Amino acid sequence: MTNDDRLDETHDPALRSWVASANDPQTDFPIQNLPFGVFRRRDRDERWRGGVAIGNRIVDLHAMAASVAMEGDAAAALDRARAETLNELMALGARPLKALRLALSRLLREGSRHAADAARWLLAQDDAEYRVPARIGDYTDFYASVHHATNVGRQFRPDQPLLPNYKWVPIGYHGRASSIAVSGQRFHRPRGQIRPQGSERPFVSASRRLDYELEVGVWIGAGNACGEPIAIADAERHVFGLCLLNDWSARDVQGWEYQPLGPFLSKSFATTISPWIVTLDALAPYRGEWRRDADDPQPLPYLDDPGNRRHGAIDLQLEAWIETAAMRRSGAAPVRLSRANFGDAYWNVAQMVAHHTIGGCNLQPGDLFGSGTQSGPNDDEGGSLLELSQGGKHPLALSGGETRSFLEDGDTVILRGWCHRPGFARVGFGECRGTVLPAR
Ligand code: CA
Repeated sequence: MTNDDRLDETHDPALRSWVASANDPQTDFPIQNLPFGVFRRRDRDERWRGGVAIGNRIVDLHAMAASVAMEGDAAAALDRARAETLNELMALGARPLKALRLALSRLLREGSRHAADAARWLLAQDDAEYRVPARIGDYTDFYASVHHATNVGRQFRPDQPLLPNYKWVPIGYHGRASSIAVSGQRFHRPRGQIRPQGSERPFVSASRRLDYELEVGVWIGAGNACGEPIAIADAERHVFGLCLLNDWSARDVQGWEYQPLGPFLSKSFATTISPWIVTLDALAPYRGEWRRDADDPQPLPYLDDPGNRRHGAIDLQLEAWIETAAMRRSGAAPVRLSRANFGDAYWNVAQMVAHHTIGGCNLQPGDLFGSGTQSGPNDDEGGSLLELSQGGKHPLALSGGETRSFLEDGDTVILRGWCHRPGFARVGFGECRGTVLPAR
């Protein structure tokens, strides 16, 4: 059930844009979406600036600001959105962002007199390159899928898959921001200390069990002062939007290093995110009830709120695909590895924000959360190869006779995500793509 007071004219499924490609029912970027990113024309030594995706085009917000007059909150937001990073736009908070979204929606609609200005501030996405859209101060990775936590726990601790704190605490760890890169990232297979089964002593090796993790990224907007927790009822006002996130993981390094303080080098060598940030405003039609089974512990008061119960879930379909080097050579299509829905997460976005700040930790504009691997309840819904191949015991059949237990050099993993609900537009996230290169 949707909380209808979050809906406004920008969500009207009948809206059409004078950007023709935005009216294709299969586009990720209809006029109802309007996600933000930072781009420049490819292979030009020009400045990075904020943009908004529309169909197969980008609205250049820097150029738009020079030719379009906005007022009030929308003007303030546009002024910040044209910068080289989105941190200042994020810092403004939810209301100016909503005002800018409304102004952009009106400008881009069929019938707007601005259609004539298009050449000045539109360019093809095919001609653009992207970068991480904000300076990420801190990155935190959660563990919000109980199905993933159970599947993985079974491999590392067969006797006790789900630790007793899981259903009380939104588990997370502080990750590494420096190695987060935008879609298109190519990274070398990491080396590290491993101790395979049957080996008495650890040794240094290129990872033999390299994996992907299908996650949702959560971008923080307005921050909080140190020492002042964010109440769950206010939590979403501190969230700018969502992206796709691949938390590449070296399972053999992880298995040896993770106790007692959690993952360290097994996760810090690369993380890939999609370039476009889909705002929570754009996701309003796809919100759903958040439930906790009656047999499970109910959330402690700081993690519980009637509004969050009503619409805390986000019906976001997620998919992971693989394109191997052999597929590229033969022209074969990528193969889907798994699908999952963010609506199945055990902990939701508002709960992550409330939990992160309960002790007084200050979040800052441009901080990034990973949701943790999103796996569904069924066997083919594992959000990582560790789950899909059951720790490497049951390799997956791809196409052309290829199989995978873990990733091979040359493999490209592609994440996709979209929301759809009858009576509303389909909004998508674009792609999050990364490629494994041989170890150095
Ligand atoms: Ca993760």
